[in-house]
Amino acid sequence: MTKHENLIGGKWVSFGNYHDNINPSDTSDVIGSYSYGDASSVDAAVEAARAAQPGWRNATPQARHDLLDAVGNTIAARKDEIGRLLSREEGKTLAEGIGETMRASQVFKFFAGECLRQSGDLQASVRPDIDIEVTREPVGVVGIVTPWNFPIAIPAWKTAPALAYGNCVILKPADLTPGCAHMIAQILDECGCPPGVFNLVMGRGSKVGEALITHTGIDAISFTGSVATGHHIAEVCGKSRKKVQLEMGGKNPMVVLNDADLSVAVPACLNGTFFSTGQRCTASSRLIVEAGIHDAFVDAMTKAVTDLKVGNALDASTQIGPVVDEKQLNSNLAYVELAKKEGAEVIGGQRLELGQTGFYQAPALFLGTNNDMRINREEIFGPCGSILKVSDFDEALAVANDTDFGLSAGICTASLKSARDFKRQAQAGMVMVNLPTAGVDYHVPFGGSKGSSFGAREQGRYAVEFYTTVKTSYIYAG
Ligand code: NAD
Repeated sequence: MTKHENLIGGKWVSFGNYHDNINPSDTSDVIGSYSYGDASSVDAAVEAARAAQPGWRNATPQARHDLLDAVGNTIAARKDEIGRLLSREEGKTLAEGIGETMRASQVFKFFAGECLRQSGDLQASVRPDIDIEVTREPVGVVGIVTPWNFPIAIPAWKTAPALAYGNCVILKPADLTPGCAHMIAQILDECGCPPGVFNLVMGRGSKVGEALITHTGIDAISFTGSVATGHHIAEVCGKSRKKVQLEMGGKNPMVVLNDADLSVAVPACLNGTFFSTGQRCTASSRLIVEAGIHDAFVDAMTKAVTDLKVGNALDASTQIGPVVDEKQLNSNLAYVELAKKEGAEVIGGQRLELGQTGFYQAPALFLGTNNDMRINREEIFGPCGSILKVSDFDEALAVANDTDFGLSAGICTASLKSARDFKRQAQAGMVMVNLPTAGVDYHVPFGGSKGSSFGAREQGRYAVEFYTTVKTSYIYAG
């Protein structure tokens, strides 16, 4: 079996402690064995990153551009191979795996361009003969901690801007999905990334993650993952005054009004709720449906959900791949039982034995639910969606906003006025009209409000806020 090491200071380093990366579609398929580090591995990576920081900070925009552009081109050229690796380790369908790989390529190429578009402000002073320059500088050494559900896109959308704006990086990917992050490290190395500028340390959150967030040699932490881990990281970073950015969970509402076109609403809800096995922070988990269209919507949605084909992520006919692992599957199944206890009518949701050793679950639709139920308040993070019946737009908006989260919110309607009112009043960082709540562009800001996000936005030109600090220089030339 292939063994995979960590990248520290431009060298591939083994810490022993090899962990098998298992395919959730077929647990007899072991993708590779990955060496997991600990606190001393983080010490070594921080030392390498700090040593590389002055050189990278002063590297020309052209040098940074060329590296990121080459990485983007290489990922695109190898999209089938990397997409297959992604689908094998995470379980999303091959089409989704290749699509996510291409997204990583686009992100690197976007930030390659940003290297050449950095600018500052030249301002007149209120005093005579003084000019003022406002410029941006790298934050320093950035620790990046990522979840398993977008194993290449999230490492890419944090690493690319960090490097573009002159920071050095230590990436700790989710321990369930080290393969794609290792692939990014390999490609950065092959494309000539200077030693120490990008470092990969794989391992457990409790060891490698904890060591990163507490390390005094790290200037900033960018994190995506669960609310519990995010809150812990915020506390630790607050105490040591590290800059921190958190992208956490969601309980995203999708409103369907009486005037919605069902041929638009049903595919949007099906995609938003169930694609990628519902394992998206932007998944539509609460479908809030106005009374006049409720029964027709439930009929059409029930048919669409029961027609979905669950199977091995690599089979071309599969629409819904497996759940990522046994623990997540058991958690999903417990929520299905809870839905029944709370009085919902449950369509599907059972574990599926498909003649192969994988973590398969039938998509679950919970009917007749209300917003006080735990199934509508807690993030399930699986192929499960609830339907909540409401009497009008005002109740729909109130229910949509009655949540601790605020990542994405959607509405299906033919009314420009309803769409505009929802867009203005939805308490969410992203609003979708006649589109699934999940599925975003890479060149515009991504992030949420309330309990979903903390700190500066990610992606697009807004990424500059997190990965730089501002310097104001006064120049007297009298
Ligand atoms: P998780 O919080 O368990 O783990 C995320 C990362 O944090 C992993 O790399 C993990 O090893 C690490 N970690 C765990 N404990 C740590 C600690 N004490 N210190 C430092 N790092 C630690 O989340 P997950 O199960 O991998 O991912 C699923 C979650 O991610 C869901 O809640 C989902 O909503 C969220 N998510 C959010 C977004 C977003 O942009 N808002 C995107 C994708 C996923």
